[in-house]
Amino acid sequence: MLLIFLSIDYCYYMKNIPDSLSQVFQQINAAEQEFGRPTGSVKLLAVSKTKPVENIQAAIDAGQTEFAENYVQEAIGKITQINNPDLIWHFIGPIQSNKARAIAEHFNWVHSIDRIKIAKRLNDLRPPFLAPLNVCIQVNISREKTKSGINQEMLNELVEYCNKLPHLKLRGLMTLPAPYDNFKKQRQSFKQLRNLLVSLHSNLPDFDTLSMGTTHDMRAAIAEGATMVRIGTALFGPRD
Ligand SMILES: *Cc1c(COP(=O)(O)O)cnc(C)c1O
Repeated sequence: MLLIFLSIDYCYYMKNIPDSLSQVFQQINAAEQEFGRPTGSVKLLAVSKTKPVENIQAAIDAGQTEFAENYVQEAIGKITQINNPDLIWHFIGPIQSNKARAIAEHFNWVHSIDRIKIAKRLNDLRPPFLAPLNVCIQVNISREKTKSGINQEMLNELVEYCNKLPHLKLRGLMTLPAPYDNFKKQRQSFKQLRNLLVSLHSNLPDFDTLSMGTTHDMRAAIAEGATMVRIGTALFGPRD
């Protein structure tokens, strides 16, 4: 019985991934227009954590090339199995020191750097034959005790440190703010991240990425200048 339900559920999302993908693109385009952002200025990262390779393949077949994962072991299994050099993989989860090597070897981007020790390890363990690892610093905008991310007061020091590391390319900031339902409040959090990026940008030419916005607050993030939105649920359905 359970198996039947599971497989119906599974087929449901399989069939609908191309539709979901085009709906999300429509929402992104609509928000770009609404808030005066250039068309195509917001990149979609498909957050595929906990979802099977078949779902990722369905998105690839529909044209998606950038994917984001949270759990190192799970992600590397999928990256190796799919083995497609055209894909770009983003790591967006908390980083344990002992997982830094695997992340440095398998990913193109890391969005969740929040301390010097991890930045140094990723730099030291990035294979020299690969391009520098693109990184964003995660900022704990809402100052939640349970959330990863650096506090704003500590940001300058980490930016300066990362900027000196030859195997990292510092690209911008990431945040996962407290989940407000209120559009205005959502915008306030994202605006803080944008202001931080703007205040640092003048000295750093490649520092242009604002990784912010998930399924429930993507529109507010785009209103405040997101250049990458990280969307899971709207594409692949709810996670267990
Ligand atoms: C899971 C996750 C997302 C995607 O969230 P959805 O609500 O499923 O769109 C985005 N960013 C991070 C850091 C996540 O962990």
